Amino acid sequence: MPTKVHEMPALPYEHDALAPHISKETIDFHYGKHLQTYVNNLNGMIPGTPFENASLEDIIRKADGGIFNNGAQIWNHTFYFLTFSPEGRRVPAGKLAEAIDREFGSFDALKEQFAKQATGLFGSGWTWLVKDGEGKLKIVNESNAGNPLREGLTSLMTMDVWEHAYYIDYRNRRADSIKATWEVIDWSMVESRF
Ligand code: MN
Repeated sequence: MPTKVHEMPALPYEHDALAPHISKETIDFHYGKHLQTYVNNLNGMIPGTPFENASLEDIIRKADGGIFNNGAQIWNHTFYFLTFSPEGRRVPAGKLAEAIDREFGSFDALKEQFAKQATGLFGSGWTWLVKDGEGKLKIVNESNAGNPLREGLTSLMTMDVWEHAYYIDYRNRRADSIKATWEVIDWSMVESRF
């Protein structure tokens, strides 16, 4: 069987569509350069390994080293970019909204707790809103390429807190970048994962 070729995900919006919250230049670099590099790296690494035809989910569950890092970063970035929409719903609704109110107190309280964890993550990584095996919501931090699937959790939304995600628009101000990211999240997409 020929080696699987991992492809770039198509973005359902133009690179300037999330501005001013996330600029065209950030999407050009973050999607066009950083994500492309992870895709190129993974495609270069897998031939002749047990992962040459593996899904990204299998790579996240079972791989380590460079194959894990690049494979997980492709999954994480794809999930992250597909959470955004220039015209999405900016607040949760339905059963997810009920669960957020029940478990965090309110949507504002969730945002506050999420921002606190994301700003407190040391170094590079991702902050995730996840659902555990009992359907309970949680906010978890993962370092570097970490992905909650590895702990059996279902991801609902994420923010990338690597400096490359925000340095062009917000320099060192991670908290400002988190605040801006709420303005482009499409909660109908988050609900579809719940
Ligand atoms: Mn990134």
